[in-house]
Amino acid sequence: MYDVVVVGGGPSGATAAEDLARSGHKVALLDRAGRIKPCGGAIPPRLIADFDLPDEQLVAKITTARMISPTGRKVDIPIENGFVGMVDREDFDEFLRKRAARAGATRATGTYLRIERDEAGTRVVYRDKVSGNERSLATKLVIGADGARSNVARTEVPGGDRIPYVIAYHEIIEAPGKVGDYDPARCDVIYDGRISPDFYGWVFPHGKSASVGMGSMVRDVDLKKATADLRLASGLADCPTIRKEGAPIPLKPLDRWDNGSDVVLAGDAAGVVAPSSGEGIYYAMVGGRVAATAASACLASGRARDLRLARKLFMSEHKTVFRVLASMQNAYYRSDERRERFVSLCHDIDVQRLTFEAYMNKKLVRARPMAHLKIGLKNLAHLTRLVPAVRV
Ligand SMILES: Cc1cc2nc3c(=O)[nH]c(=O)nc-3n(C[C@H](O)[C@H](O)[C@H](O)COP(=O)(O)OP(=O)(O)OC[C@H]3O[C@@H](n4cnc5c(N)ncnc54)[C@H](O)[C@@H]3O)c2cc1C
Repeated sequence: MYDVVVVGGGPSGATAAEDLARSGHKVALLDRAGRIKPCGGAIPPRLIADFDLPDEQLVAKITTARMISPTGRKVDIPIENGFVGMVDREDFDEFLRKRAARAGATRATGTYLRIERDEAGTRVVYRDKVSGNERSLATKLVIGADGARSNVARTEVPGGDRIPYVIAYHEIIEAPGKVGDYDPARCDVIYDGRISPDFYGWVFPHGKSASVGMGSMVRDVDLKKATADLRLASGLADCPTIRKEGAPIPLKPLDRWDNGSDVVLAGDAAGVVAPSSGEGIYYAMVGGRVAATAASACLASGRARDLRLARKLFMSEHKTVFRVLASMQNAYYRSDERRERFVSLCHDIDVQRLTFEAYMNKKLVRARPMAHLKIGLKNLAHLTRLVPAVRV
């Protein structure tokens, strides 16, 4: 009998399993394996610090972010006092799973099928990857960390089947080295309705490779064509393609993360990805951590309502940043004219500092009220069209 079975061994599930094992619980980590998670792999320094990530996991360190507007204007934002890390999910996820196993978690490889409950207790039923047979893991609690379109969320948690998504698609290419406009230490973020009418495109260097992609909620957008156009515009059309892949990015955290008895969700399964940026790795790991805390509390107290702690703890720390990012997405991602204004706003040194502080350290800095006021006024001026979109 396990204390907790964690379904899904991505950043969220592996973190939950490691934390639970470290705090002395009997935990199993079930992952279906065999597919590299499609992901740009950009992570903030706060993740590296909070989750003790060794330097060798970083395939690139990014020191500049370039914002590109619909008219092709480029604003380079230097990343002061640090860097944005890049990970390869093939290695990163397995590193986290192995670390969880070293901490004491039992690994199981197979596809989650369902949860069964009877007088004997609760069992997670899965199809074993090697034998193809159905197996089960008896447990007190379950953490559903099986990613976007989670089966655990869909079948166990009210509303878990109704999370809105952006579909993101990218191609992993062989990086050209520092030639033409490509810089292995710079991330490009492209705000252009021809690439994405409601999200953005990106070029993220990964050392020997790079991720080039875009996302959109609009159903008839041709993701492959948009990515081909982006590669052409970035001078990367001729680089050999290593992989082509897509996946959903959830857009809104669920109102409930637990089923009121024995299941709690974490990461993409709970819909937790930052609006505007689509950043999910850090939040997935925080989600895994708070789910582990909630599960520990529930096991200690015997009170199922302690599972609600997961969402409470997460929201008390990140709700405001999510709100600000959601209103930014609503305000600026709706037309090329707005995108042009957004990139224009990025010229402002205070906007750069505040945005990067929020990304790098996950905090909205309160220290400079005058800067906030100035940004607020500029924001208003852009949204009410008091200033021209294209800065001269
Ligand atoms: C194209 C793209 C680019 C992105 N770029 C970035 C980026 O640059 N930076 C960033 O921070 N975020 C990015 N994201 C978001 C980020 O990838 C996710 O938010 C993050 O991976 C969520 O972690 P997770 O552990 O919750 O879920 P996942 O990483 O999806 O992990 C879920 C795990 O569950 C397992 N699983 C699923 N179903 C089953 C099943 N039935 N049985 C057993 N196991 C199962 C899977 O094998 C997987 O290991 C991107 C997403 C996409 C799609």
